[in-house]
Amino acid sequence: MRDRKKIAIIGGGIAGLTFARSLTREDYEIHIFEKKESFKEIGAAISVFPNALCVMDDLGLLEEILQNSGQFKTVYLKTSKGKILSKSKPKSDYPVICIHRADLHGILLKNIEANIYNDFTLKNIVHLGNGQVTIQFENGENKVFDAVIGADGIHSEVRKHIINDGEPIFRGYNIWRGVVKANFEIGYGSETYGKGKRVGIVPIKDGVYGWWATCNEAFLQDDSPEGTKQKLKRLFGNWHHPIPELIENTEEILKNSLTDRIPHSGWTKGNITLIGDAAHPTTPNLGQGGCIAIEGAYLLAKCINKYGLSPKAYEVYEKYQFPRSKEIVNESLKLGKIGQISNPILIALRNVLFKITPSSIAMRMIDKYFSYRVTELKI
Ligand SMILES: Cc1cc2nc3c(=O)[nH]c(=O)nc-3n(C[C@H](O)[C@H](O)[C@H](O)COP(=O)(O)OP(=O)(O)OC[C@H]3O[C@@H](n4cnc5c(N)ncnc54)[C@H](O)[C@@H]3O)c2cc1C
Repeated sequence: MRDRKKIAIIGGGIAGLTFARSLTREDYEIHIFEKKESFKEIGAAISVFPNALCVMDDLGLLEEILQNSGQFKTVYLKTSKGKILSKSKPKSDYPVICIHRADLHGILLKNIEANIYNDFTLKNIVHLGNGQVTIQFENGENKVFDAVIGADGIHSEVRKHIINDGEPIFRGYNIWRGVVKANFEIGYGSETYGKGKRVGIVPIKDGVYGWWATCNEAFLQDDSPEGTKQKLKRLFGNWHHPIPELIENTEEILKNSLTDRIPHSGWTKGNITLIGDAAHPTTPNLGQGGCIAIEGAYLLAKCINKYGLSPKAYEVYEKYQFPRSKEIVNESLKLGKIGQISNPILIALRNVLFKITPSSIAMRMIDKYFSYRVTELKI
């Protein structure tokens, strides 16, 4: 057998691992380079919608994912005092689920065949005349590849090489997240709206819940000297049950500033292309960033399975993935603005709108994102 072509995936997140699992041609050798020293647990939950679960089904991973996750059978929108603004029950051929990020990552990781290199941070990419590429790493190593897949997240170095559109854009609010075992049954998912603040609760499994809370504040605002938990108690301590209890009982709380990028086409240069957050980072208001990372990674691999490492493969991938991801990024940004409203008159209007919109119509508005089946695309 002739030498196999070598593909480097930069970044061992959801996108990189999904791509590795989806690339089925045996004439490619996969090498994944991850800057973290190890894939240690990330203490947060992730919602996975039917549009990504169909991919996991096609990849043979659905059952294991379902065994490790909780389902959203009912979702409430509420006010901070607990008044119900809307109630919906997602219905689809796949459930809407929530899983610990470490579990989703772990399932993907153990189901791929690839050479994995931790503590390898991409520093630079050099195009050689023959279509190959040299990758230079921070640790001084250089390696030559036939293709490079940039799956290195929102701050992507590979994107810098291809698009170079500066830093991600801060959208005016920060988010705290935690995972906690509750000693009471919640039995639903919810999103609660306050004044420039929101809290979401998502069921993982066996009484473990993920929660997130947002607040309008400065980029990377430090919680000291007050301390994170104290601050969250001040912000959300009088919100409805079980929000204060969940926050109180959470040991490890993560905090991020929410950013995205203006959708930008042109993801490929030679044999280097982008997937996941490196290509289309989005705010998490639709819970779709990871889902479209899964979709896109799968689609690119499918295109390469069919057309090889060729311009056609990259072109077909972007033809489908760019418009879809652009719509989701823009819609998510819009939802975030509505969610973070702090003007009392607009809050009252928003709440009335939530209340009078029949859940069937609300579900239909978002269904177009969740009912998409990349697995059925004829490429
Ligand atoms: C608060 C929050 C909540 C979210 N909730 C949801 C949700 O409920 N559902 C959902 O679908 N999505 C959600 N998302 C979005 C989701 O987390 C991302 O879209 C998803 O993780 C993207 O996967 P990725 O593999 O493209 O990037 P990442 O997960 O960022 O992985 C990139 C990997 O590349 C590595 N890397 C970075 N730079 C380099 C380098 N120079 N060299 C080598 N390796 C490098 C990183 O260490 C990392 O492991 C949320 C995002 C946030 C911020």
